[in-house]
Amino acid sequence: MDRAALAVRGIRRARGALMKPWYQLTAEQALERAQSSHDGLSAAEAARRRQQHGPNRLKEEARKSGWSILFSQFTDLMIIILLAAAAIAWGMGDLVDAAMILVIVALNASLGFGQEYRAERALAALRRLEQPDVVVRRGGAFAQIASYELVPGDVVAVNEGQRIPADGRLLEAVHLQVDESQLTGESIPVTKHARPLPERDVVLGDRINMVFMGSTATTGHGWAVVAETGMRTELGKIAHLLQVAEERKTPLQLKLARLGFWLAVIVVALTAAIFAAGVLRGEPPEAMLLTAISLAVAAIPEGLPAVTAIVLAVGAQAMIRRRALVRKLPAVETLGSVTAICADKTGTLTQNLMAVELIWCDGRLIDVTGDGYAPSGAFLEAGAEIVPKNDPALFDLLRAAVLCNNGRLQQDGGQWTVFGDPTEGALLVAGAKAGLWKDQLGQYPRIAEIPFDSHRKRMTTIHKGPDGRFWLFSKGTIEEMLHRSADILEGGAAQPLTRQRRERVMRVHHELAGDGVRVLACAMRPLKAVPSDGRLEEAERELLFLGLFGIMDPPRPEAKAAVATCRQAGIRPVMVTGDHRITAEAIAAHLGIHDRGDRMVTGEELESMSEEELERLAPRISVYARVTPEQKVNIVQALKRRGDVVAMTGDGVNDAPALRMADIGVAMGRKGTDVAREASDVVLLDDNFATIVSAVEAGRVIYDNIRKFTRYMLATNSGEVLTVFFAMLFGLPLPLLPVHILWINLVSDGLPALALGMEPPERHIMRRPPRHPAESMFAGGLGAHVAWVGLLMGLGTIAVFDWAHGRRDLSHAQTMAFLTLTLFQMFHVLAIRSERDPLWVIGLWSNSKLLGAVALVILLQAAITYVPWLQPVFHTAPLTPGELLLCVAVASTVYVAVEGEKWWRARGTLPSGADR
Ligand code: ADP
Ligand code: MG
Repeated sequence: MDRAALAVRGIRRARGALMKPWYQLTAEQALERAQSSHDGLSAAEAARRRQQHGPNRLKEEARKSGWSILFSQFTDLMIIILLAAAAIAWGMGDLVDAAMILVIVALNASLGFGQEYRAERALAALRRLEQPDVVVRRGGAFAQIASYELVPGDVVAVNEGQRIPADGRLLEAVHLQVDESQLTGESIPVTKHARPLPERDVVLGDRINMVFMGSTATTGHGWAVVAETGMRTELGKIAHLLQVAEERKTPLQLKLARLGFWLAVIVVALTAAIFAAGVLRGEPPEAMLLTAISLAVAAIPEGLPAVTAIVLAVGAQAMIRRRALVRKLPAVETLGSVTAICADKTGTLTQNLMAVELIWCDGRLIDVTGDGYAPSGAFLEAGAEIVPKNDPALFDLLRAAVLCNNGRLQQDGGQWTVFGDPTEGALLVAGAKAGLWKDQLGQYPRIAEIPFDSHRKRMTTIHKGPDGRFWLFSKGTIEEMLHRSADILEGGAAQPLTRQRRERVMRVHHELAGDGVRVLACAMRPLKAVPSDGRLEEAERELLFLGLFGIMDPPRPEAKAAVATCRQAGIRPVMVTGDHRITAEAIAAHLGIHDRGDRMVTGEELESMSEEELERLAPRISVYARVTPEQKVNIVQALKRRGDVVAMTGDGVNDAPALRMADIGVAMGRKGTDVAREASDVVLLDDNFATIVSAVEAGRVIYDNIRKFTRYMLATNSGEVLTVFFAMLFGLPLPLLPVHILWINLVSDGLPALALGMEPPERHIMRRPPRHPAESMFAGGLGAHVAWVGLLMGLGTIAVFDWAHGRRDLSHAQTMAFLTLTLFQMFHVLAIRSERDPLWVIGLWSNSKLLGAVALVILLQAAITYVPWLQPVFHTAPLTPGELLLCVAVASTVYVAVEGEKWWRARGTLPSGADR
């Protein structure tokens, strides 16, 4: 070893001795080690470190590579049979046929490869969109960045429900508990703090002042300085051990796989019979063997799984354009049969743009003016402006609301933005309008906090006042605050909170809530001493009730129409909220969710209801108010037991069980936590109720379209089999050569089927009742359709073949049979674009991809019939115009017949029959 290397080693060893592990450092030392500060890194420094350290990401284990997808194309059983067929043809000296089969196998493989590769890429793009955002301090301000932008030294927020984005040393922790089971296997969440640990050699699971990438915060919140990112994190070190998420097939794909299996069984039996019959009749066994094999291949819709996979994946991509991100592919399908949508009120049905519009304190009602989050506006009492600084009651109320608050209001490029809970943001804005800023209330340092949660429905903080006394501030629902208050501020002094006074407060509340206003109450009390951590809640009593905030959260303008669409589509919209029943009812009535005949149930009533009772009442309940996330599980269960297919929204940690229980768990992309997102099937990128409805519509369209191309491919397959079968039956020579069957199977089947999968929505798609989830693929006469269309195609093709066979040579007759069958397909595909409407109603031009596919197939068919050097390859002969016309005429019968079928089926059900 040379001297330079020795020196480097010496320095390393010296540094190692000096370097204490992160968990032994104080918060200040940790910041120093990370060359950062409480204000975080500057933007320039963050950019520099980003260059140095690269993105904060684990190297993904390669999923499916292009090569493995390509290879898998050749492992298909059918392909192996085909390759065997080529070998047999070769052995018989039929080199052209052997080559042709090989070319078709190659084409088929490349088509399959293209489809699967596209589907895989589409899914990868979906996964990339799932990268969460985090909040960091940059140069003293808050900023929201993508988690992969994090660098060592960043000061990053840790919030309830968040997946920890990197390894870090905590600077601050409030009731923070972290689930580290991913790393340590320990399933009980670890309680964290920000103090240094004295011990050395602390194992990972005991480093309770640190947080680690990949674990999740289950409660509380805090801040951490990032120590390591990407592959240098503890998770990165074991990343190769992590399991890659399994791929899930949709129920439909499973059904198709089963169908494919049974078809294979039937086909093998049938082909064996046809082969035996042919040989017995004296056909050359080699030719019969080839026919039998290619017939088997033709009869099995091998294209079906590939086309289904790509239509599902492309459909999921199309849903992103509608702002719905599908996390689990089966959801695309299930969405189409949703019968009930249980939606959060706040943020999903409303805009979550909260603003304090009214304040009630000291027995007075005060209007607050202003626009959005901008901290400018006036306080008006009966039209006359008041100055909050000179109004002690109003001032006390606003101060409580600003101090007992974890939000942050800041200006970014002229725009005022709120970080954290929008409810708290609204209070900060109201405070700022009175000149009360959180930063400027520094003379009230916060000593302790009990965070808001959906059970406590209140939040409390304890502060040290300028006079050295301690103050407790609390805010929450009106019930909680009244329950914990002994006095109320009135006429400038504390008055006992008598029954009359309580009733008066409730009357004011009901009046505000009746307009759909969200009401929040505040209270406070002086404390002699700060209770110990475990006894904080005991101090939340004998409070002085300060007043009410009336917070306006306007309904989303598009929600009303979406609710109406739901009802027409046979889907019941249900509101679920933690808000008061009067507020909830006002908004629900405005949106059309709540009718006079409907019932409303509160969390308290739910508590005392038996499972059976809830199940019985559920179909008439349109609003659940003041419920906890845990009760959402009961609601989902009751609806599911009634046979409903339930979509349920959620955003918090506690919503995760309900999201998992629902048929479609819907998480909020913006305000939702990572925990909720990971438990969900669909993420709403815009948190919007209307997006769920639009995703349901997309789900219905995709299912419709899968049925359409399934119908198309199965009908073709039965047509092919029956053509050959009839030839045997009537003692005719082979009407179709293997090459023809393979061609039909590849070209005239695959291309239009894919285009059919992109068919635009049918008319009235949201006026039909939901599809029953257990409905078979063959429901609605699909099986009968496949049978009679196959019969028509088979008989028609054989008739043309027989006619030609009497007049021309065999290859002429075969060319006509081949052409007739292809044209049958083209007329069929045009007729089945809608299961209900005739082509002239949906419009010939409304799916240009399909027209293109049909035109291409006809062009290729013309080429193999008329181009001289292609004729020997496909064993074709040029047809006369009269013969062409005959093929077209016979094939067009299927179009007429299918339109007739639609008309016949629609007879009984008048158009209004679909509307319920
Ligand atoms: P939802 O999300 O359905 O609106 P929440 O649980 O957020 O229901 O709110 C229920 C009630 O809790 C509100 O009506 C309000 O009075 C109170 N509340 C909401 N957010 C806070 C908060 N950050 N601090 C204190 N109280 C709150
Ligand atoms: Mg909320």
